[in-house]
Amino acid sequence: MLGLMQDRPLALPHIFHRAEQLFGHKTVVTAEVNGETTTTIAELCTRVRRLATALDDLGISADGRVATFCWNTARHLELYLAAPCTGRVLHTLNIRLFPEQLVYIVGHAEDEVIFVDRSLLPLLWPLADKMPTVRAFVVIDDGADTAIPDDPRVRDYEELLAAAEPFSGDFVIEDENTAAAMCYTSGTTGNPKGVVYSHRSTVLHSVATLFADGPALSERDVLMPVVPMFHANAWGLPYGGLLAGSTLVMPGPNMAPQAIVSMLERHEVTITAGVPTIWMGVQPLLGDHDLRHLRAILCGGSAVPKALSEAYREAIGIPLLHAWGMTETSPIASVSSMRSHHEGLTEEERADARARQGYPLPLVELRIADPETGEPQPWDDEATGEVQAAGPWIAKDYYRGEGGGSQFTEDGWLRTGDVATVDRYGSFRLVDRTKDLVKSGGEWISSVELENEIMAHPKVAEAAVIGVPHEKWVERPLACVVVKPGETLTAEEVIEFLRPRVAKWWLPDAVEFIDEIPKTSVGKFSKKTLREKFGGYELP
Ligand code: ADP
Repeated sequence: MLGLMQDRPLALPHIFHRAEQLFGHKTVVTAEVNGETTTTIAELCTRVRRLATALDDLGISADGRVATFCWNTARHLELYLAAPCTGRVLHTLNIRLFPEQLVYIVGHAEDEVIFVDRSLLPLLWPLADKMPTVRAFVVIDDGADTAIPDDPRVRDYEELLAAAEPFSGDFVIEDENTAAAMCYTSGTTGNPKGVVYSHRSTVLHSVATLFADGPALSERDVLMPVVPMFHANAWGLPYGGLLAGSTLVMPGPNMAPQAIVSMLERHEVTITAGVPTIWMGVQPLLGDHDLRHLRAILCGGSAVPKALSEAYREAIGIPLLHAWGMTETSPIASVSSMRSHHEGLTEEERADARARQGYPLPLVELRIADPETGEPQPWDDEATGEVQAAGPWIAKDYYRGEGGGSQFTEDGWLRTGDVATVDRYGSFRLVDRTKDLVKSGGEWISSVELENEIMAHPKVAEAAVIGVPHEKWVERPLACVVVKPGETLTAEEVIEFLRPRVAKWWLPDAVEFIDEIPKTSVGKFSKKTLREKFGGYELP
């Protein structure tokens, strides 16, 4: 017997029409190169309707890829809606990729048009001739005075919108499994691979950002996604915020800690999100700002150091809300929310609980399995295994089958390449990425745990641990440490600090002091770069 409920597609037009109908009076603030602009959702929706027509005027195919090369702005949000609501596929390009990677990705996705913020033109335009699929580069004026090339492919965003009649009907996507957006993984090994989100996966993930044990977005929130809109759709928060009706604050091109903290304060932001490096930069400024409106700071993308989260709790009363995921998981898969069984624990124990990657969101299934045999591992917080994920917003393949299916199990689960333990309540604790584990004499050392312990040292700004070749043990840990400005620290002090905190055989064999930990295009520690730098490292 079948159920008798309506079968309505879970598709982005719902988010658009709902925002237009219910939240027209709400606002989106955008930081520009100079100053800020504010637009209402009603104005934004009218512009989306114009943009829908403009995409037709540009001759973009029915399911053509519409690429963006933009900061977090209201205009980027217009593209987030107009492209998928008209059946096209939004393709967010990471502005920090190497030129060869950008050229590869644009060609692989067959992007037909790239919308580019004027301030970012110097990064993109020199590559234009290597992008034969792209017939138009539409420049969005963000107040930068960058020269605009005299070329027939270059168009002006505002002129295009002004010339286009607003689309007057309802946007319709009949098949909810239609592609809505795509995003390429950072490609730490081999070429970047395309993850293709569907309307259904995007709507369901947006709903998940409203879950109480997740970001819990609501109409009363003022949401500022600092995580870029080109990094796994800013963790799905812009769509979630529109669905909830939250006020939006877009930080635009100025990612400096001072600019971020002053926007949080001025706009009375209630929830924000970014990778740990962003919050490390902001942390020393907390004392000078009134952030009493903040209720949540979502943090993920790499492990959130306990000391960092605690520094926030001590300074402004709220720790970081730790979430885990990857481009392939849309990206939010688990959140380390506080649970009833944490009541009565000491502050230290609660901080340990928050430092875990947490519980799978409803509709997401996670398991740990032996990476070689696939044997499921027990949830005793001791056994480690590769994290595998299944659910309606988890990828089942890459665009054009790249990778040959090696990242998926026979029963269709995603192999994340992360190694974790799970406690009996189902809270995951990531030990490391398989490729970052230090393999010492047949045993594994978690680089992440070592880093977190080193970063708890009051004089340490940042630390990353990599394995370097060792004759006897195969690999041994090398700690790369950045000391806080004005402080001095010796290798012995680092080791003495670690001694009571980790097993003896985990103690790094050497400590190197460096000026900065190299970062990837999305602001994570780039261990690949460190491994290259210390390639022929000779341990003492
Ligand atoms: P994204 O571009 O969304 O960051 P990637 O695929 O580049 O996605 O990176 C995903 C990886 O980042 C995960 O597999 C994991 O190794 C790491 N990661 C993400 N969130 C966390 C977290 N909270 N703690 C530890 N590692 C994390």
